[in-house]
Amino acid sequence: MEHTFDRVAAVYDRTRALPPEVEIAIGAGIADLTAATAATRFLEVGVGTGRIALPLVRQGYCYYGVDLSMPMLRAADQKAQGLAGRLILCDADACALPFASATFDVAIVVHLFHLIPAWPEAFAEVLRVIRPGGAFLYGAEQQGAVDEPDPFAARWKAALATHGIVPRNHRATDEGVLAALRQRGLNPEHHTIANWTRTSTVEQTLTRYASRDYSSSWSIPEPIFREANATLAAWAREHYPDGAFPLTTAATFTVLSVRC
Ligand code: SAM
Repeated sequence: MEHTFDRVAAVYDRTRALPPEVEIAIGAGIADLTAATAATRFLEVGVGTGRIALPLVRQGYCYYGVDLSMPMLRAADQKAQGLAGRLILCDADACALPFASATFDVAIVVHLFHLIPAWPEAFAEVLRVIRPGGAFLYGAEQQGAVDEPDPFAARWKAALATHGIVPRNHRATDEGVLAALRQRGLNPEHHTIANWTRTSTVEQTLTRYASRDYSSSWSIPEPIFREANATLAAWAREHYPDGAFPLTTAATFTVLSVRC
């Protein structure tokens, strides 16, 4: 069965790439937070193309990755060639993990739960397979400084709102995951393990909005999507007449981390 991420597997690394030093910092931050040793067994549910996994695998850790999309898994597998089989990939649903309880020392989830309607089932599955005393890490890349809202994002949201559409209809919010952890008596710590900036030109930014490469756009009906893009482009050309003008946004990688 085709899975939604199959359609973006070929462009995922190009559109979501992290700067090499940021990838390394995230891997090092995860290893530090979990006090990882050579014996630590990692699991990432929704591993995708291995963006988070590969730096840890390159450091020598044994890392299991689960995903529903075969093209995403194939991309991860290709990148792990020559890494001595330390990235073990498995085509499975987060809501029914094919592992015995208490199998892993560390389980990682990055940008997954918002995609799953029954995310509490996936959440319960992830916690089930962590050994007592093992760690759960819930990571996210955040774009845009809090004190400096991204004007393109604000304009895009406004254009969609005129049609009654909220672009990011997250099924799981960070607050929801935090509340679910607390309900189990778990009190995670919040860490920022990488900071960087992203620069793209006005034209590149408009192309990104028009691409449908991001899951937040997949449920927007085509005529509304086209109209919202036209509105955004008209606004951008008025405010940034030079399409080559560089727009810089702040980015951070944050992690909620807790011992189970
Ligand atoms: N964690 C990776 C990263 O940060 O680069 C990939 C994140 S990508 C936004 C989400 C991934 O979760 C996709 O590869 C998608 O196929 C996978 N996914 C979505 N729903 C899933 C499910 N129910 N079970 C397993 N994987 C799922």
